[in-house]
Amino acid sequence: MSVGNTVEILSALVGFDTTSRNSNLALIGWVESYLDRFGIGHQRVFDATGAKANLWATIGPTAVPGYILSGHTDVVPVDGQKWSHDPFALAERGGRLYGRGSADMKGFLACCLAAVPDMVARPLAHPIHLAFSYDEEVGCIGVRGLIAELARAGVKPAGCFVGEPTEMNVVIGHKAKRSLRVTVQGRTCHSSLAPMGVNAVEFAARLIVKIREISERLAQSGARDPLYDVPFTTAHTGTVQGGTALNIVPDRCTFEFEFRSIAADDLDALAAEVKAYAHDVLEPQMRAVAPEAGFIFELKSGFPGLEVTPQADTVRLAKRLAGREQHGKVAYGTEAGLFDGAGIPTVVIGPGSIDQAHKADEFIAVAELEKCGRFLDQLVAHCRAA
Ligand SMILES: [Zn+2]
Repeated sequence: MSVGNTVEILSALVGFDTTSRNSNLALIGWVESYLDRFGIGHQRVFDATGAKANLWATIGPTAVPGYILSGHTDVVPVDGQKWSHDPFALAERGGRLYGRGSADMKGFLACCLAAVPDMVARPLAHPIHLAFSYDEEVGCIGVRGLIAELARAGVKPAGCFVGEPTEMNVVIGHKAKRSLRVTVQGRTCHSSLAPMGVNAVEFAARLIVKIREISERLAQSGARDPLYDVPFTTAHTGTVQGGTALNIVPDRCTFEFEFRSIAADDLDALAAEVKAYAHDVLEPQMRAVAPEAGFIFELKSGFPGLEVTPQADTVRLAKRLAGREQHGKVAYGTEAGLFDGAGIPTVVIGPGSIDQAHKADEFIAVAELEKCGRFLDQLVAHCRAA
């Protein structure tokens, strides 16, 4: 496959500002008319508002299991980032293609679409499915509807390749994530009468320290998975809001924290440990002063981890197609855990580097697109012969 077509397609895709807060339908429409040129059927799976959609397309026979090429169409915001050019106009410089989403992950989508003429050139024995999702960057939201739709329709592919940027390394695992929003309800009063109130900021701080203690325990003596850069489960508090003035005891504080766990740890148990400390240790102290005081926990987002055995057929196939013997795991989350959890053996493998994702002047090397193109050539050959 010639990389020229890939670059042309990537240029079109980057031109759509599909920041997660926006509709992705213009991009989906563009992809649909591209597929129409090759007579490929496709289907939208909308969100509740109708402003966003997943796209599902099948090339080849529908009655036999095939392989999913999965990627998200949304990108992270460019707000507050210093770009040296328009982030939504692809720019080529020194073998690199700059633009928002070039690495994460419109580069992969472009490679898949550029491979379509080859896919349709001669009949496939096993189908290749395109699964392009929305709202991945805000918690792997969109693809859940698509996976549910596949289950309803009884589509059971043999495997799935999620093309997040791995520099075409075969990734067989990623961490699970759970994030929670905590609202601390206290009782306000003049700060000179502090003991008559319940200081929501201070009780939030005590719970945040508890979360920190859990993360230190996991770091020092928790389970280990050496395939990760950070080989243990982590916890972290990311935002805190509370208080209005120094002379007022604050009656409200909110904060958000997360766990990112390796397969050996149980997110339910870790979240339960935090909640138990809040409800059993802190709340009785708060309620001795103010019966209405306490903690409210809300699930903010989360996704399951990916944990595939190196012996799995999809892993072996990915290695053969990519010409690699090694495999690894990545700390960042992807849609792969959701596909795999739905019984579709899944590997993460895609062009570009996660180091360039989400940053100003995001880019993908042309050489990465070429590597991915060769992988897809091999996949098409495999599906033709299989
Ligand atoms: Zn991504």
